[in-house]
Amino acid sequence: MSQTSMRELACEARLKLRHLPDYMDSITDRLQSFEADASHQGQRIDFRFAFGGASIDMERLVMRANAADRDGLARIKDLLATAVQVYAKAENPEIVWTGDLSGETSLAQFREMTVTEVRDLTAHMRRVSFSGEDLGRFAKFGGMHIRMLFPTMDVPDPLWPVLGANGLPVWPADDRKPVARVYTIRALDVAKGIIDVDFLVHPGESVGSAWAIQAKPGMKVGIMGPVGRPVRQAEWYVMGADETGLPALARLLETLPAETKGVAFVEIADEREKQTIDNVTGIELHWLTRDGVPAGEDRLLTEAVRSVAWPQDGSAFGWFAAEASAAKIVREYWRDTLRLGRDQTLAAAYWRRGAAGLMAG
Ligand SMILES: Cc1cc2nc3c(=O)[nH]c(=O)nc-3n(C[C@H](O)[C@H](O)[C@H](O)COP(=O)(O)OP(=O)(O)OC[C@H]3O[C@@H](n4cnc5c(N)ncnc54)[C@H](O)[C@@H]3O)c2cc1C
Repeated sequence: MSQTSMRELACEARLKLRHLPDYMDSITDRLQSFEADASHQGQRIDFRFAFGGASIDMERLVMRANAADRDGLARIKDLLATAVQVYAKAENPEIVWTGDLSGETSLAQFREMTVTEVRDLTAHMRRVSFSGEDLGRFAKFGGMHIRMLFPTMDVPDPLWPVLGANGLPVWPADDRKPVARVYTIRALDVAKGIIDVDFLVHPGESVGSAWAIQAKPGMKVGIMGPVGRPVRQAEWYVMGADETGLPALARLLETLPAETKGVAFVEIADEREKQTIDNVTGIELHWLTRDGVPAGEDRLLTEAVRSVAWPQDGSAFGWFAAEASAAKIVREYWRDTLRLGRDQTLAAAYWRRGAAGLMAG
């Protein structure tokens, strides 16, 4: 430990891929969306993150990662291995890291958490506080979300994931695997070791919502993260969210710089779902109520977001998180109609009507 903390940590993995150059644009795009600077040196692309560096050599078929600390190196290995697995899927890549941390089996992004408090913010929004150890990494890397791992009726006593040689999580036993759902860290207190998650209690069979309904102090879950791309800093924002995006939107309004301007819309079932947000910014917040229209079918939110005129000057960013069909409408409007780039917009599907566990895999 003391030896490795004195110097930069580094590792590498061979990439036995026949068509690596074909995937490099997509891999580069993905890593850039996690705030990497990319530069080409002949057949090699170098990536610079705030917390370390990486390179992928298309001629020598090797990728390398380096960082000042273990969290940083684990993060870069995870970003690289995930990007390669996603885009080179057809070649079923085998990734084996050698070098620093290669014998490591504990998963840097995993924590077991214990429920400490449960309270209802509104009739359908339940805040659960969890305590856990060493939560510093959840304040790093710009991701606001976590993959929550729940016990279920079928697997009441799950086995938590460990680190595989490829730098990605491995599940010890298929029949003891917890079920994953994505949630937002609504608030984080690293010093006290506490996170808050706001669960929307929605109708129908579910895992996350069903778990929240019966949550009690002492119960355990696993979390992995942080997950998600950093929200770009801008002087002006247009934001839109339904109840599932509300925890992230609220956290942004509570943490963005005070001089930030813009407009935010939140879609809720009815007036009773309004909650207090300590908005420290100059972003105007508007609540929109569905009043009987089922979640995911109302179009007030997408219309409100599309009606906003973007400023001519200064930096601006569009942020949207709601049901998949609403996210698609907004994404197409921003990207295709307004011709805004990926660096100026993030319109994400947080759930899909009729589909379980969107984005949880
Ligand atoms: C990055 C990210 C952050 C998220 N943050 C939060 C958060 O902080 N709080 C939160 O509550 N959710 C959040 N979500 C949404 C949450 O992951 C989904 O709603 C998820 O489907 C909930 O899992 P479940 O087990 O309750 O329902 P599932 O088992 O996934 O779905 C069961 C059924 O319920 C339906 N369903 C799912 N969500 C809703 C809904 N909102 N309203 C009505 N029906 C629904 C599904 O369509 C399906 O038919 C987030 C999602 C993402 C991608």
